[in-house]
Amino acid sequence: MAEIQLHNTLSGKVEPFVPQNKGEVRMYTCGPTVYDYAHIGNYRTFVFQDILRRFLKLRGFQMKHVMNLTDVDDRIIVNAAAARKSIREYTEKFVQAFFDDCKTLSIEAPEHWIRATDHIPEMVSLIQRLQSNSFTYPGEGSIYYRIAKFPNYGKLSKIDLTGIQVGARVDNDRYEKESARDFALWKAPKPGEHFWETAIGPGRPGWHIECSAMAMKYLGETLDIHTGGIDLAFPHHENEIAQSEAATGKPFARYWLHAEHLLVEGEKMSKSLGNFFTLRDLFAKGYKPSALRLCLSSTPYRRQLNFTFAGLTQATNTIERLRNFADRLQTGKFPAGNQEGMAARIAKAAEEFDAGLSDDLNTARALAAVFDLVREGNIAMDKGEFRQGGVGGIQQFLATFDKVFAVLEDNDAAKLQALGFGSAEAGLSDADIEKLVADRNAAKKKRDFAAADRIRKELADRGIILEDAKDGSVRWKRK
Ligand code: AMP
Ligand code: ZN
Repeated sequence: MAEIQLHNTLSGKVEPFVPQNKGEVRMYTCGPTVYDYAHIGNYRTFVFQDILRRFLKLRGFQMKHVMNLTDVDDRIIVNAAAARKSIREYTEKFVQAFFDDCKTLSIEAPEHWIRATDHIPEMVSLIQRLQSNSFTYPGEGSIYYRIAKFPNYGKLSKIDLTGIQVGARVDNDRYEKESARDFALWKAPKPGEHFWETAIGPGRPGWHIECSAMAMKYLGETLDIHTGGIDLAFPHHENEIAQSEAATGKPFARYWLHAEHLLVEGEKMSKSLGNFFTLRDLFAKGYKPSALRLCLSSTPYRRQLNFTFAGLTQATNTIERLRNFADRLQTGKFPAGNQEGMAARIAKAAEEFDAGLSDDLNTARALAAVFDLVREGNIAMDKGEFRQGGVGGIQQFLATFDKVFAVLEDNDAAKLQALGFGSAEAGLSDADIEKLVADRNAAKKKRDFAAADRIRKELADRGIILEDAKDGSVRWKRK
């Protein structure tokens, strides 16, 4: 197996990955701010983190992985007050939607899924530690972090703050500060808004202190890996480092991994451009969860992902091809024995798959190893050269692939149903059905019965029954 190499934003280099404790990885992921449904850009980052987690598990590491839910921030407080709900009541719907979405995209649950509002005492005690080290100062009931006292500020994002003028707004804090660079650890209550009564006064936590306090509570003072989208490197992660390291005197996280953003048809996603999508928007258009997962994971995380509908359709076809091949292996009748060179060919694919993922999670390279073997396997089957002896090895390789990519198992219809998309046939027009029936006829003609059966099953899952007449014609009806 290849040595695992990961790009560390802190050093700006690709480095061998070696955790502090042999066999164990302590990883923290900044989760969603639950004031609305998460969008496909967010899920690009969450799927990247899931692929990382699954690959490390495949390599035998025991994961201690924490993901937080930011369930208190200015938007949540304002929206909850407008809806006359408590913070918990207001965010519950979006927390549940996030969990459901993760399940639908086969994003594994981390060992700890935690909420910011359950950790106010930990945040307060971290602020007290910073107060006793003179890293803070008060202002109109709020408490600020004094960046001038932390000389390493900027080491993660390499940002040069010398040009930031006093009075300029770096973040959304609307309070008086010694320096524009400083940020709020604790925010004074505003009339009519929710606050907590604590030993450091009434108020609510700043966003950055949440992650420092929660990460260190569950993972200790030095984490192995901290992840997020690239927009979080500054100021969020820079501030997490400043807070945590000022309190402990120890490095906060050893490897920082950041995913580049998702664009839609080459443009930044935004509601005003009409190119803003949640998972549910895409499922309502008839796309499958597995296709979206493959689409989000096939571009390596450090490259911008240009999401297009053509790409999503291509991912849908790829999934179909992979599942057909898996079915062909399962149900095909091949002559006994071994095809010459097949065992070595499978071993080479497995090696290349591992080398791709070890290469800073190069998912495109890992997937190419899978697609090449599938193509060659299909050709060998078509030519009648494939032998039964190759079945087990390829099945084992596909199972390994699916432990990381999680797209092979055909559970899309059930997942969509669980999300409330009916029996999923809603997305199938008569023309869609006719097209699938024609595809099935073509498969039968080529004697690819596995593919024909797959299509029959897919239609059945979507509520369409096929009737094969004696004269070879096919009729269909809705259940
Ligand atoms: P938020 O809920 O805004 O805190 O974001 C949750 C995660 O999604 C963070 O890791 C963000 O960096 C990430 N993120 C936000 N927008 C995008 C995008 N367009 N592409 C990829 N990741 C994103
Ligand atoms: Zn965070």
